Parts: sequence; structure tokens; C-alpha cells
Amino acid sequence: MIVLITTKVETFNNYINGEWQESVSQKKFYSVNPANTEDVVGVFQASNQTDVKLAIEAANEAFPEWAKTAPSKRAAILNKAASILEENAAQYAEELSREEGKHVSDAKNEVLRSAQTLRYYAVEGQSFTGETFPNDDPNMKVSTEREPLGVVSVITPWNFPISIAARKIAPALITGNTVVFKPSSDTPLIAVRLVEALQQAGIPKGVLNFVTGRASDVGDPLVTHPAVKAVTFTGSTAAGEDIHRKTPFTTRTQMELGGKNPLVVMDDADLDLAATLTVNGGFSLTGQACTGTSRVIVMKEVKEAYVQKLIEKTSALKIGNGFEEGVKIGPLANEKQLKNVLKYIEFGKEDGAELIYGGEHLSAGAYEKGFFVTPAIFTNVKPDHRIAQEEIFGPVIAVIEVDTYEEAIAIANDVDYGLSASIVTNNLKTANRFTKDIQAGTVKVNRTTTGNLINAPFGGMKQSSTATFRESGRVGLEFFTQVKTVYIGY
Ligand code: NAD
Repeated sequence: MIVLITTKVETFNNYINGEWQESVSQKKFYSVNPANTEDVVGVFQASNQTDVKLAIEAANEAFPEWAKTAPSKRAAILNKAASILEENAAQYAEELSREEGKHVSDAKNEVLRSAQTLRYYAVEGQSFTGETFPNDDPNMKVSTEREPLGVVSVITPWNFPISIAARKIAPALITGNTVVFKPSSDTPLIAVRLVEALQQAGIPKGVLNFVTGRASDVGDPLVTHPAVKAVTFTGSTAAGEDIHRKTPFTTRTQMELGGKNPLVVMDDADLDLAATLTVNGGFSLTGQACTGTSRVIVMKEVKEAYVQKLIEKTSALKIGNGFEEGVKIGPLANEKQLKNVLKYIEFGKEDGAELIYGGEHLSAGAYEKGFFVTPAIFTNVKPDHRIAQEEIFGPVIAVIEVDTYEEAIAIANDVDYGLSASIVTNNLKTANRFTKDIQAGTVKVNRTTTGNLINAPFGGMKQSSTATFRESGRVGLEFFTQVKTVYIGY
């Protein structure tokens, strides 16, 4: 992709040991607007391993003091940073929309949700503690304490670039860890804003460090350096596996990975609701949510009626850039995403599914300079088709027809992933069976596969997560602390 810079563009630095600084590499990269690639959002540091090592060393040095800092002081910093995000939400939302493509209203919600996350952990983190254990010795107290781990590497994707970062950084900091944060190169500006907010809120030098750059240039020390005690990563399953293989066994890892999320539509379902849930779950964020609906498993009796409603609702979705009123489908986030989605649309056709709506690359007029596709609906999809098995991460719905609930469950579970799943039914028994039968970290009834609460656990099964710690909610603090058991005789 050739980038033409037509206006003056701001350059943003790394943040290491309390200083905004250029990479020692002296190299830079551009972040561009996926709705218009001539719009350059910013110039960022193409860092190298030396920058990362300096950041890790700074975090390691700052750790003992930060671990001793009063939790109320740590909480005050998170709260102040939350206020800064809230005060600047309108500006940050515009910047986020420009670099990622999501609608500016969604971007604003994400910034505000991130502020809420900081506030949530400011409170929860202060009361996160161990237990005491009854024992037979009247002169002995046995209890557990929770201690921070040390330096934590935080590696994040572009699709929710501030809210995912916030739900990792806030619990890491409140429990007394220090952080090295590497964002996706598609969304470095909103990451800068989060770091700035924490800096302005008074985070001591070295406690939070920030390095931008390509995974191939900066990835290894982030996950293999001996001072790094934990890696919390959200991204693709392939990258997560690679990182997991490389990390020493003494380094704790938390990997939140891909999904292939099903929505099951029963014959007693409210079909209007089912179609709305499909459109909202499958096409919001242009299908680029890890919990996005990508498979619809529908009972034969209601398939035709459901598909008609789905087409009606899909055809009403306005496609455009994130600043236009009423736009529901923005561009894909980058060129790689566009190519991948178009590749899977071809796979769908090659494998024998029927493309009954959309799936076109929009490349003329207002769409000429961006990565736009029309949302795609495939029917006659068989469970072994590639569009029914592999994560596409775009606005593509595979409709699979079944005869029974048992068949629906078998197909829903017959993929490598297990992130989120939902069923549309009015039958209480079916709803309850589904919550037990489905292999997914999040299960819903009559709701979209997307969306999760700040105060509830989040994570997947199978290849959607490491089988260790959940993120989000109170349990989200567990990953960032280790348990020490204390016996005191007196
Ligand atoms: P990605 O795996 O390409 O990159 C994610 C981050 O990891 C980026 O910052 C990238 O630079 C870095 N990275 C990649 N390889 C690395 C390596 N070997 N070592 C160190 N760092 C490395 O993912 P993406 O394209 O940014 O995001 C899309 C993916 O994220 C999808 O698969 C989606 O399902 C997943 N996702 C999962 C969740 C979840 O909570 N389960 C949430 C959002 C996105």
C-alpha cells in the first residue's frame, strides 16, 4: 500500500521510564485511516528489541516501590486517568474512528467503557485479598496473601484497542505490577491516549511503559525476557500459540484468542429477534469482534422465514465511514483484513455454499480509498466448509440448516474454538439445556453473541483462550497476583 501524506502529521513517541522518547531504531511507521488510506492518522515509532529491553528494565526497577505503594494511591491514579478519558472522550473517539474505522459513536462508547473499567478496578482491586483457614492449633493463624508478580507485558489487538488494553492494564497496576504495553500497529494513537491519561494522572516513572512497533521486531523480548513475569495477550490464535510456545515456564500467560461463534435458532424462536441478533452480533464492528456471530445454526422448519428477515435487515444497513450519520458498517480495519474476507468469500463459493447476499468489494466512489465490503450471507453451508470452521473476522454469516436440537449442538461444538454462543428460543428447557451442552466461555439466550460486562468474567474454551485465568470482573485480578500461604504460631 502506498501512503501519500497530504497534510502535516503528528509524530508520537514511545514512553519509557517516564519519558516520551524516539525509538533507538530511528525508524517510523504510519497509521492510516482504513476508510481513506490517504488520511494519515499519525507517525509512530518502529521500535526494536533495544527499546523493549529498556522498557522492561525500567518496569523492573520501578516494581519494588510500586508494589509497596498504598492501594488507595494506585486507585486514585486510575480514577484520575478515568476522568481524563471522560473529559476528552469526544476527541479520542474521533481519533479512534479514524484509525480503526468503527463508527464514532461506538468509539466514544469504547472510550467511556475504558474509563469505567479503570474505575471498576480502582475499587475492586483495593479489596482483593486472601483467605484465612480454620485449623486445629488454637495458637496458629493460617492465611493467604496476594502479591503482585512483577513486570507484565500487555499485548493488544486493534478491534477494541482501548477497552481491551484498559481491562489488562488496570488490574495489573492496581495489584502492584509494573507494565510494558505494546498496542497493535493499526491503532497506536488511542493507546498513546490511554498512556497519556495515566501519565497525567500521576503514574510514577517506570511503572507504565509503552512501545510501538511490529511484532516481528519487538515481540520476542516482550515474552521471553527473564524479568517479564506475566504476558497478557489478546489477538489471533496463531499469534497466541506462538507466544505461548516461546514464554519460559516460569512466566504466566493469559491468551484471549479467536472465535467461531454460533447462534442457534430454534423452531419456536421469535424470528424477528433472531434476525436482529444475527445482524447486530455478526455485522457490528464490520464483523470484527472476537465474539461476533459467524455461524447461524437454524432449524429447517423456520430457515426460509428466518433468512428472508435476515436479508431484509442486512440490506437496510448503511455502509460508510465512521463519521457519517447512520452508518452501521464501516471499513475493514486494514488491507490484510480486506484480502482475508474476500478470500473466505471465494472459499465459501468453492466449497459449494450459496452466496445469497453481499460479499462484494466496494471500490468506487466514496469507497474508493477504503477497505469496504458488503456484508455477506451464505446458505447451504455444510459444517465442514471452511467458512463454517475457520475464523474469518469479517462480516460473513454462514447459515447451516439442521433437523434437531441434538444436531445443532453437535455442529455448534464441532469447531476448534469456544468463545461465545447464543440460542434464540422461547422454551425454558431448551435454553437451560443449551447453557449446559455448549462448549463456550460465554453462553447467552436471546441475546447477541457479542458484548460482555465489565464486572463479569470473560474468556473462552478450547483454542479461544489459554485454560488458565479469566479476564474481566473480580476474577480478572487473579492473573496478576500470586498466592502466598502464611502460618503464624503465637
Ligand atoms: P494479532 O494476533 O495479529 O495481533 C495482536 C497483537 O499481538 C498485536 O499487537 C500484534 O502486534 C501482536 N503480536 C502478534 N504476533 C506476536 C508475537 N509473535 N509476539 C508478540 N506479539 C505479537 O491479532 P489482531 O489482528 O490484532 O486481532 C484480531 C484477532 O484478535 C482475532 O483473531 C480475534 O478473534 C482476536 N481477539 C480476541 C479477543 C478475545 O478476547 N478473545 C478479543 C479481541 C480480538
